Amino acid sequence: MSEEYNSSNFIKNIVKQDLENGKRNEIITRFPPEPNGYLHIGHAKSIVLNFELADEFKGKTNLRFDDTNPVKEDTEYVESIENDVRWLGYDWENLYFASNYFDTMYEKAVLLIKKGKAYVCDLTGDEIKEYRGTLTEPGKESPYRNRTVEENLSLFDQMKNGDFKDGEKVLRAKIDMTSPNINMRDPIIYRIAHSEHHNTGNKWCIYPMYDFAHPLEDAIEGITHSICTLEFEDHRPLYDWVVRECEMENVPQQIEFARLNMTNTVMSKRKLKLLVDENVVDGWDDPRMPTIAGLRRKGCPAVAIRNFCKEIGVAKAASVVDSSMLDYFIREELNKEAPRTMAVLNPLKVVITNYPEGETEMLEIENNPDKPEEGKRLVPFSREIYIEQEDFMEEPPKKYFRLFPGNEVRLKGAYFVKCNDFIKDENGKVMEIHCTYDPETKSGSGFTGRKVKSTIHWINAATAVEAEFRLYEPLLLDENEDANKNFLENINPNSLNVLHGYVEPLMKDAKKGDAFQFFRHGYFNVDSKYTTEDKLVFNRIVSLKSSFKLNK
Ligand code: ATP
Ligand code: MG
Repeated sequence: MSEEYNSSNFIKNIVKQDLENGKRNEIITRFPPEPNGYLHIGHAKSIVLNFELADEFKGKTNLRFDDTNPVKEDTEYVESIENDVRWLGYDWENLYFASNYFDTMYEKAVLLIKKGKAYVCDLTGDEIKEYRGTLTEPGKESPYRNRTVEENLSLFDQMKNGDFKDGEKVLRAKIDMTSPNINMRDPIIYRIAHSEHHNTGNKWCIYPMYDFAHPLEDAIEGITHSICTLEFEDHRPLYDWVVRECEMENVPQQIEFARLNMTNTVMSKRKLKLLVDENVVDGWDDPRMPTIAGLRRKGCPAVAIRNFCKEIGVAKAASVVDSSMLDYFIREELNKEAPRTMAVLNPLKVVITNYPEGETEMLEIENNPDKPEEGKRLVPFSREIYIEQEDFMEEPPKKYFRLFPGNEVRLKGAYFVKCNDFIKDENGKVMEIHCTYDPETKSGSGFTGRKVKSTIHWINAATAVEAEFRLYEPLLLDENEDANKNFLENINPNSLNVLHGYVEPLMKDAKKGDAFQFFRHGYFNVDSKYTTEDKLVFNRIVSLKSSFKLNK
């Protein structure tokens, strides 16, 4: 797939140059998720970028769990992340856990202390913030900044041995409190946290901060190009400082790119976790979630996600991608793959009064009119069928060409039927309509006598298979997630619409995850969570058409 990855990609140019001018012999990238939630479509952008880049230049990509924060991390997340990366179609060279480097990180911190480049500080969190200064004012030096190397070594050892409580002391890099870059004003590199870690258990009660840990992780693994999102641009001088002052042999280069933002989509594990915890959705894999697990359950093919990520490209400037663009790539794939069939989501009974009672014929219906090679299937037809409620109107507005008293339509793959009458229930709702069919008009018979203006789908009543249909709309009402701070107040109350109807008898054999195109409705798949032996549940993946146009 790498040869397709030719969208304008400035990172690729950097890599190419580095290889050409001998700065690097080989490229090694990594995807470094923190296992504190499930992966989302934004992570997919980073995964595709890192793996495709290495692949194109015959390099390697590691999957590394950035598990340096003991509090929020969980093995459930570790497993889901591995599973999602594989499902997306990528295989890592090595699987690493940053927590396996805790010993080395500790040694490097000690090295910094010995070089006079780090000190133990007793200021509280608030004081540290206050001393840090602002963008316009320089910071103030901590009163603990000039502790001797011996004192620092001994205090850091005590920190490690659990002699202090959380927050009582931190280890800080000794850089420059007057630096115009606030990240360089003696950043914290180790903190105390008496928490059990999912990998190292209770071995440690001090944990390295991201800005210290990440460059070391990259250097230890021999990463050449460490790709991260734009908000780390101002951290790059610190990244380089850590690699240099810790005397790392391998010197990785940090490169930033703009993160993926999508309309009507939250793209933060913290917020997605809130949706799960507050039961707004039925789990991380709810088909409305922008998680890889949610997209997979909804029926989005992995290749559609890869193609989407390649098409959006990689840039330095932040932007918001229209979520209908992902739907476009999903449709492109499913159009090639998904078998065609009919489903009635909102049934209305039709009695064909001139069709012989007790008789059933098997109609041959083409599976895919665009692809005759996909053959035909046999679909039963008899006196009683279901159509969509929306396909009948007692009093049609102008330009309504479907069924109404006196009007004739084509039943897909069957006959012309004309509506003559209807029956209402006690509430005045139409519950059954009566039609007559014209045997001359059988589909495929070459009948040219007259034309009708619409073709509707149907399901034979006696052999209909009951099914539940779950139709989705965006979870968020607001177009742009940044526009609203408390996003839980902007949940779309109609994001899930559950309907009960019928599918063709052959669908009895459908398996969890199978995708189909339902005539006129769109692409659906068999839901893996709610489908049981006796109940078929479908998710709508995407509708058939969209106004979205890809600019090529
Ligand atoms: P979140 O806020 O969703 O937790 P994160 O950046 O904290 O995101 P990590 O697990 O640390 O999540 O991210 C792993 C990798 O995925 C990082 O390299 C990060 O830059 C990248 N990434 C995360 N979100 C996006 C996004 N929306 N677009 C592109 N890359 C992303
Ligand atoms: Mg994070």
